[in-house]
Amino acid sequence: MAASVSEARAGAATRNTIQRALVLEAVQSLHDHPTSADVYEVVRKKHPNISRATVYRNLGVLASRGEVLRVEVPNGADRYDYLNEPHYHAKCRVCGRIVDVDMPYVSDMAARVTDAHGFTIEGHEIIFDGVCRECQAPA
Ligand code: ZN
Ligand code: MN
Repeated sequence: MAASVSEARAGAATRNTIQRALVLEAVQSLHDHPTSADVYEVVRKKHPNISRATVYRNLGVLASRGEVLRVEVPNGADRYDYLNEPHYHAKCRVCGRIVDVDMPYVSDMAARVTDAHGFTIEGHEIIFDGVCRECQAPA
């Protein structure tokens, strides 16, 4: 009896690991800052039996482990990023697209704060506003 319980647990652990790997692989295949819904669509194509809740849960686990980057977008859905090193983004105010911005990460940003009013700073993110190349092109 005890053996079958632990076998069941091992089976569940293996399934979780496999599902997490599928979700990670999907994020890594998408280079355009997908939403959770976008990631689900990619996973579902290859694995029609995986549920939306499972994909979303695993995105949360991967983000909390730092295996993918979660980009919180003001007034928009969170995006996921295969590039899990700190870097900056720009958001197109026309189409909502999120793109990477190439600039060195400002690691001493917190040190430049002269008074945080008691707030403990743990990090920073930058999302530049503007218009992407496609939206600037004449129609
Ligand atoms: Zn745009
Ligand atoms: Mn990015």
